[in-house]
Amino acid sequence: MKLTFIGAAHEVTGSCTLLSACGRHILIDCGMEQGADIYENADLPVAAGEVDAILLTHAHIDHSGLIPVMAARGFRGPVYTTGATAKLCDIMLRDSAYIQESEAEWRNRKARRAGLDPYVPLYTVIDAQNALRLFESKGYGETFSPFPGITVGFTDAGHLLGSASIRITVTEDGETRTILFSGDLGNVDRPLIRDPQGPPEADYVVIESTYGDRLHGERPNYVSQLAHVLNDTFNRGGNVVIPCFAVGRTQEMLYLLRNIKEDGLVPGFEHFPVYVDSPLAVEATRIYDGGLTDYYDDETLDLLAQGVDPINFPGLTLSVTSDESKAINFDMRPKVILSASGMCEAGRIRHHLKHNLWRQDSTVLFVGYQAEGTLGRKLLNGAASTQIFGEEIAVHAKIESLEGISGHADRDMLLGWLDKMETKPRRVFVNHGDDTVCDAFADTIHTKLGIPAVAPYSGDEYDLVSGACTAHGKVVKISKVSDGRRRANRVYERVTEAGKRLMSVISLSRGLSNGELAKFADQINDLCDKYIRKSGNK
Ligand SMILES: [Zn+2]
Repeated sequence: MKLTFIGAAHEVTGSCTLLSACGRHILIDCGMEQGADIYENADLPVAAGEVDAILLTHAHIDHSGLIPVMAARGFRGPVYTTGATAKLCDIMLRDSAYIQESEAEWRNRKARRAGLDPYVPLYTVIDAQNALRLFESKGYGETFSPFPGITVGFTDAGHLLGSASIRITVTEDGETRTILFSGDLGNVDRPLIRDPQGPPEADYVVIESTYGDRLHGERPNYVSQLAHVLNDTFNRGGNVVIPCFAVGRTQEMLYLLRNIKEDGLVPGFEHFPVYVDSPLAVEATRIYDGGLTDYYDDETLDLLAQGVDPINFPGLTLSVTSDESKAINFDMRPKVILSASGMCEAGRIRHHLKHNLWRQDSTVLFVGYQAEGTLGRKLLNGAASTQIFGEEIAVHAKIESLEGISGHADRDMLLGWLDKMETKPRRVFVNHGDDTVCDAFADTIHTKLGIPAVAPYSGDEYDLVSGACTAHGKVVKISKVSDGRRRANRVYERVTEAGKRLMSVISLSRGLSNGELAKFADQINDLCDKYIRKSGNK
């Protein structure tokens, strides 16, 4: 039994780890790399068609986003995850595929004019739909055995609706080991969802480290901070524009806004309108509002028991069509507009910024992390003007941010979570953190808790019986390969993946009857003849 680290190794995105045991290959998360990455990820050592199952911690694209690629390359499932994660993936993977297709369409228009090779989307909506058919839901606390010798259980990670830590028990050749994957661990006291559940016992822990070197500080009162911004802006006669991640953060903001309305914290503007203007956010809001009682925290369940809808209130409008979106500009009342993307890089938020940034009476309120190089970060850093849709827009609006709001546990919360384990694990593997943060957090775990800890690189492999590192990854920094070339190669990779699978099926077929073997060989040869003719080599 062994563990191979593939993605989010010394990086924050692209989570993916391979467990090989009992003759099976299981991926824990299969995420897309987003933003600036430093290291090349090692290739999966097995073909997609040879992966027997994927265990998914939560719906965020940096954990789930490459499942459609796996499906396109021959993975036939199942994908085990919680019911809420399956529901959220249903909208997020389709949305992600739609973005890939739109981007390819846009690039192809340019490529055709320049006489270049066509650009191939990473995956299509059809690939996403095929992948979604492979999902199988499991509840928190339920233990199931996907394969002989392997059992799996999910516990609440408190990071996003449906998010889970995953514990896997493997028994092979009389040896039993348990491995616990933290997934992304949540902050405490968040609206709607529960705090992270304490960890079950395990021999090995793979823990995230996004905030492994930072503390959130004292927990601020989000309701009063937000009410203050609303009062200040509405009294000036302007709008509060909130760039917001569509899934999770938008629904948390709705929860806080309902609270503000109910307690009458914006005197004189009690009936202020709130618009959610992002098709994905609207779909996600419907899922959050769909009675997923297994996933809510006690406060939310109390509200539901009293007949209160936690994220709905008078004055809330969900706009889906572009006409509905444009109509928001004609509502002259001071109002709140929640729109995506959260870092202002794309989506309808850019229209609302264009209409409000130049207005002295409006406020742009940031409620999430703004990565280096994004429009969100530029505005937070005090840009005096910016280009939106080719037009120079002056920044006169107030730029504010809601401090301390984070979906991740900080350093001490991560340590506290590990420290709740009654028996110390043999070793902790630290992933999902910036290059230096992973190493620093591994050191912190070792010095503060006395547990051996290491931050593996992509391609590093560990034997789980002995605990020894059995192979090292190459640690290659990313070189600038043109994106179009990478995408074109990806289609060819689908064939080489299928070829790898064929070789492993051939080695498994030894025990078949001579008749079956002859038939198999004939079929392979027929297929080869067909494609040799097509490629013009014969
Ligand atoms: Zn996440």
